[in-house]
Amino acid sequence: ILQSHYQQIRITFDYTHFDSLDPQYKNHSSLLRSRILPDVQNFWEQALRVARLPTALKINPEFCPYYTSTTHIEPGIANTDLVIFLHANNEDVCGQNEILAAAESCQKDQYDRPTVGITYICMDEMDINNDKGIDEIKHLLIHEVAHILGLRAADMAFYRYRNGAPRTPRPLNLTEVTCVDGRNATVQRPAENTLQMGFTNRGNRYYELVTPTVQTVVQNQFNCFEMKGARLENQFEDNCFGSHWEARLFTSETLSSVATPASHYLSPLTLAALEDSGWYIANYTQASISPFGHGAGCPFVENDCIVDGEVPNWGKDYFCNDTFRDGAPIKCDPMHRYMSRCDLVNYNYHPLNEPPGPTYQYFPENKKLGGFLDTADFCPMYSNIVVDCEDPTLSADIREENFGANSKCFNSNMGRPLCMKYHCNAEQNKVQI
Ligand SMILES: [Zn+2]
Repeated sequence: ILQSHYQQIRITFDYTHFDSLDPQYKNHSSLLRSRILPDVQNFWEQALRVARLPTALKINPEFCPYYTSTTHIEPGIANTDLVIFLHANNEDVCGQNEILAAAESCQKDQYDRPTVGITYICMDEMDINNDKGIDEIKHLLIHEVAHILGLRAADMAFYRYRNGAPRTPRPLNLTEVTCVDGRNATVQRPAENTLQMGFTNRGNRYYELVTPTVQTVVQNQFNCFEMKGARLENQFEDNCFGSHWEARLFTSETLSSVATPASHYLSPLTLAALEDSGWYIANYTQASISPFGHGAGCPFVENDCIVDGEVPNWGKDYFCNDTFRDGAPIKCDPMHRYMSRCDLVNYNYHPLNEPPGPTYQYFPENKKLGGFLDTADFCPMYSNIVVDCEDPTLSADIREENFGANSKCFNSNMGRPLCMKYHCNAEQNKVQI
C-alpha cells in the first residue's frame, strides 16, 4: 500500500445498548455520548491514518455477535474503518476487582487490521461529578481503544511491515511457549523480529516488543541505547505475553496497567507500536512525553529500584523508602502533579493484597515491605495523593502558592512541596515558576 493512500481513520461508536440502561445511569450515558466519547474519537482520528476500507464495513455475526441492527451485516456500515460497540455494566466484566472498562476486537480486514471492537464500561465505578473524574474516564477509554486498534498480545502475530508483508511468517502456526507467569501455553507466537523473551536482573520473565520504531522511541525515552524494545507487563495479565507497557518503566504511560489516579500520558511509544503494526501511520503531534523515567538512563531501566532498603542516586526522582503513615514526609509525585506520600507499606497490614514475592523484595530486614503498585514491581513511589496541584477549588495559604491547570508540584526546603504556576521557557530550556 502506498503511504499516500493512507487517510485519517474513521471511527464509529455504537451506543444502542445505552438505550436499555436503568434510568439511574442516564447522566453517565449522556455524558459519555455528548462529551467523553467524541473526545476519544477525535483523539484517535487525529492520531492515526489507515488504508481506508473501500466498501461498507459488514459485520460477521459469527465472530462479532454485538451488532445492533441487521443492516450492520448487510449492506454494512458506510464510511467507517472501525466500529466500536459500547456495552455498560456487563455482569461478567464489572463488579470484580474494581474494573472500570475492558475491550476486545473480533474482526479484521484483509490486512488483519481490527475493524470491529467492543468496549465494556462499568458505570458504577465512574466518578462523573467533577472534571478530574471525567478526564480519567476519557483517558481510560483512549486506553481501551488502543487495545482494539491492535495493542494486544493476541494481535502482535498479525503485525506487518510497511510494504504489507507479514512480520511473522504465514500460515501462523501454534507453538508451545512459556508465558510470563511461568505456565506453558500453545499460542500463535509472533516472530523474533516482533516479540522477544527476556529476564530482568531479578530473573523475572518478560516479553518485549522489539519493532524498529518502538526500539527508537524507548531508547530516546530513557536515554539508554542498549534497549532492544519496550517491555510488556508481566504481572496480573490475562494473556501469555502482556498487553500493557511494564508499569515499573512506564508508570505514567496511558497504556500501562496502573489503577491509581496517577497522571497518564499517551506517549510516542503507544503510537510507535501502532505504527509498527503496519496498519497505521501515526501523527506524533498527538502524543505527550511520558515524564516517568524520561532521560533517566540505563540504570533506571536495568537495576533494582531500591538497593538494600535505600533509593539509589539515579532513582531519587522516582522512588522512595519512607513507610506510609500519617506524618510521613510529603514530596511531589514523579510526574509533579500531586503532593504525595511514599506508598511503601507493610503487607502484613494489608492481608487482602498479595505481598511481594521473593523476586520483588527490596528490604532485606523485612520481606513484607513493598510499594503498593504491584504492577510496578512493588517499587515504592510517591503515589499516595495528599494534594492535587491542578485542583482549582483549593486556595493558597502561602503567597507564592497557586492551584489550577497551570500549576505543578515543586519540592522545596520549606518542610513540604509547593504548588506553583509554571511556564516552560523553550528559548532558555528552563522551567520558570
Ligand atoms: Zn488495558
